[in-house]
This record gives sequence, structure tokens and C-alpha cells, in this order.
Amino acid sequence: MESTLKRTWAEIDLDILESNYRKLREKTGQDVKFLGVVKADAYGHGAIMVSKTLEKAGADYLAVSSIDEAMELRLNGITMPVLILGHTPMEQVERLIEYNITQAVTCKAKAVEYSAEAARLGKTLKVHMKVDTGMSRLGYLCEGEYFDTGVNGIAEAVNMPGLDAEGIFTHFAVSDEPGEECEAYTKHQFKLFTDLIGQVEKKTGRKFRIRHCANTGAVARYPETYLDMVRPGLLLYGYGEFAAELGLKPVMTLKTNISTIKTYPAGTAVSYGGIFKTEHKTRVGVLPYGYADGFFRALSNKCSLMTAAGPARQIGKICMDMCMIDISDMRGVTVGSEIEIFGQKNPIETLAEIAGTIPYELTCAVSKRVPRDYIKNGELIGKELMLRM
Ligand SMILES: *Cc1c(COP(=O)(O)O)cnc(C)c1O
Repeated sequence: MESTLKRTWAEIDLDILESNYRKLREKTGQDVKFLGVVKADAYGHGAIMVSKTLEKAGADYLAVSSIDEAMELRLNGITMPVLILGHTPMEQVERLIEYNITQAVTCKAKAVEYSAEAARLGKTLKVHMKVDTGMSRLGYLCEGEYFDTGVNGIAEAVNMPGLDAEGIFTHFAVSDEPGEECEAYTKHQFKLFTDLIGQVEKKTGRKFRIRHCANTGAVARYPETYLDMVRPGLLLYGYGEFAAELGLKPVMTLKTNISTIKTYPAGTAVSYGGIFKTEHKTRVGVLPYGYADGFFRALSNKCSLMTAAGPARQIGKICMDMCMIDISDMRGVTVGSEIEIFGQKNPIETLAEIAGTIPYELTCAVSKRVPRDYIKNGELIGKELMLRM
């Protein structure tokens, strides 16, 4: 569905995405495969267009969180390998196989179910074994006293009928955090992972074709963890300190425009609750951008948005569909003037810090009524609106 309205929109620059991808590949080397994480609608950027761009650019794998997200890719013509990181109920094994989708196996009970179901169908399900080396979320435990049960459990699954254990992976908890303690923790996780792989391979006499663990923090800081494939998300989209260090640029620019301008005398309370009062005569721009578009209400009265004449302070409570900015000394800023909410001029990292969160949450929050405008070779190639019409 195409959007007809220039209200608030997200420009998704596929040229920047491709350039970020190429720079990352240059860094990791041609012998290391590349998995692009496109879960959560590619962190809010639009999973179909992002995946098509990565597929064309030569990426090896994609990862999503659920079978619904995987099916969205398959039903839109994306044929490259896709890994589901989260849980899929055993009733869906037939669909996984039919659509050639790879499933993470996170514990013995699921290995048994998947194997039984695939064997019943007389088919083979491609899986990647998930190891919990210290994230304490999904995966076979292998820390301390659990090492042997971890090795045995995974070796057992590798040999089960109906399963093709193509890969094995783990996830780092603090690879993106500074400090010696986090470095030691990450290195410990990596050692546990490789030790376990060694033991499983010895036991089964089989080699995993794809061993992977490097998320954004590890791609940026721990080249020794690349193994057979890297698995970044955030870095690909160009956010965070590591992206800046590597010369990667933000793929999304979120924009809005001024719908109305009002001039209020000193002492006027603006918006719900009246938390902001004008101190002098104030020229206020009303923006069609509120928390239902993905703005964080917690940012009310605390942040700035970028006009052509520089940053304008956001004033008063952020509403569901609107917010206000102070444009008092900005004569050139008029009704219809474009405002950058975040992008190359107004870094998302600053907004995230003020809101007490991370850039991931801000791009994921851009809601479905905000059309995604895709840019390729410098030209607008599509305006995708995610509403039901
Ligand atoms: C989300 C996710 C990633 C990507 O993380 P980034 O920090 O965005 O690089 C990698 N692996 C797993 C298992 C994930 O859930």
C-alpha cells in the first residue's frame, strides 16, 4: 500500500544499507559468511526491502524471530537461507521444511519434538543448535557443571533422525559494553562455545558447517569470534558508537513537517498538564508526530528536533498524534518546513540517551502509520504504508 500523505515519514536509504554491508564485509573478510538480522521488521526499517537489498548484495543468511516473520520473507520472493532465532511450535515443522526455513534448536525437549515430527513426515529439518554460554536466555546450558550435559545433549540432537544440524551458535550478553569485566565475560563465553563445539564434534565425528556468534559488539571489537559467519543487526543499520567508528551511516532518517504555527504571549501553558510555560512571546510549531508514531512520551520537554535553521526545542507533553517545538528565532522555518526527528543531522543516539534507552528501541518503535520511503540510487523507489486498506 502506498502512502499519499506527507505527514511523518521514514526515509530508508538502501544505498547506505548496501554501503554499510560492504564495509562490514570488508572488515570481516570474504571467508566469513554474513547473516543480516532482520527481525522485528528489520528493526523498523522494513524487512522485505532490507532483505531484498541484502540478498542482491550477496549476504549469505538472514535471521528473524518467528515463523511469521520468516513467512513474510518467503511470500515476498526472498529465497536465501533464513534462520528463526526464537521458538516455533512442532506443529509448524512441515511448513518450516516446505519453505526451507532453518530453525534454532534450544533444548533437548524441542530437539526430540522436531526430530519426531520431521521423521514422521519422512523429511529433514535444517537446524542450528543454540548454546547458552552466559546470556541466560535460550540454548543448551554448558557453564561449569552443565558442560558435559550440554555436550551430550547437543551431540544427541545432531544424531537424531530428521534433523540436519547445519550450524551452531551462541549469543553474547556484554560484547558491546566497555570495561575489562565485560571483555573477560565475552572471552569466557567464546571459549565455552568453542570448547563445547570441539567436544561435540569429537563425539559425533561430524563438523558443523556454520559456527556463529558475533553480534554487533563482537563484529566491532572481537574479530577472533567471527568463526564461519557473523550475525550483526544494529551495525548494519548504522547506529551506535561502533557504527560511527567504522564509518557506517544511519539507514533511517525519520522526518516530519510543521503543520501549524502559533505565536503565544509570555505565560502560556503548552499541551497537557501545562508542564511548559512560555517565558516570553513564543512562536510554536505543531508537528504531526506523537507517541502513536513512535515518539517516546518520556522525551517530553527534554529533547530537540532538527530544523533547517538548527535544533528546535520540543516543548510541553508529547501527545498521541502531535508535539510542539519552539521556533521563535527561526524566521525561515514555516508551515510545511521539514523537520528531522533523527538521522544524520540529529543523532538517534542522543535521543536514546535522553530517553534512557538504546537506538534499537527507537527504530523499532516507529509505528505502522509512518510510511517507509525507500531510496535507491538516490531516487525514491517506493512508499510503503503498513496499514490495512
Ligand atoms: C538480535 C540478535 C542479534 C543481533 O544483535 P545486534 O546487537 O543488533 O547486532 C544477533 N543474534 C541474536 C541471537 C539476536 O537475537
